[in-house]
Amino acid sequence: MRTPIIAGNWKMNNSLAEARELVGALRDEMAALAAGGKVEIVLCPPFLAVPSVAELLKGTPVRVGAQDLFWESKGAFTGEISPAMLAEVCAYVIIGHSERRQFFSETDAHVNKKLRAALAHQLVPIVCVGENLAQYEAGKTGEVVGAQVRAAFAEVSKEHARGVVIAYEPIWAIGTGKAASGAGANAVIGLTIRGALAEMFNEETAQSVRVQYGGSVNPKNVAEFLAQPDIDGALVGGASLVAADFIAICKAAAR
Ligand code: PEP
Repeated sequence: MRTPIIAGNWKMNNSLAEARELVGALRDEMAALAAGGKVEIVLCPPFLAVPSVAELLKGTPVRVGAQDLFWESKGAFTGEISPAMLAEVCAYVIIGHSERRQFFSETDAHVNKKLRAALAHQLVPIVCVGENLAQYEAGKTGEVVGAQVRAAFAEVSKEHARGVVIAYEPIWAIGTGKAASGAGANAVIGLTIRGALAEMFNEETAQSVRVQYGGSVNPKNVAEFLAQPDIDGALVGGASLVAADFIAICKAAAR
């Protein structure tokens, strides 16, 4: 049985004061839902807010994640944050989000280095994969997403692979209000993503990895995704900035 995981990706939003306010509005309900053990909840604020959000959630089962990391441990890498630094303040980290791939030239090779660095520091990676609109329309989703998964997990051990969370995020669905269909996302996750993991590791590993759907998830459509056998929760962008919406999504996952 895979416990669903709902992660809120705040992206580059919220001042420190706004972050505190949002966590204040979410804290008690999120804590009660996560304590029930039926859903895992993770908030991923911008780097600067990670320590204060972690402090505000201390003593609750709600976890905190960063939105990126660098693979080196320390040194002359101006502007970067190391896995060791993150591990002091949070437990999860998003890796290879399509916005990083698109706007910051992240490649599959970078994603692999980041994934292995996170695992080496006991951070739980949420590694994002997904095709763009042109690839989707050309029927290349399986090819693109399969290659991203294989590249991300290169040289990762079976034991480590089991602890990774994957977010399947079709780029055309992110922030557009046009979510994939539950059945469509389930097929990509079941056939392509779990298929690639089964080839690289084994069927048991493929079945134990949690795979979220992400892309315009909201309180109205989340049930359709959660009802799919291969989907284990959601990576939520826009709706994670609205307390009532994020709580409704977490509640749906805890049902
Ligand atoms: C995301 O940020 O990963 C995301 C899926 O955003 P949204 O929910 O706004 O589409």
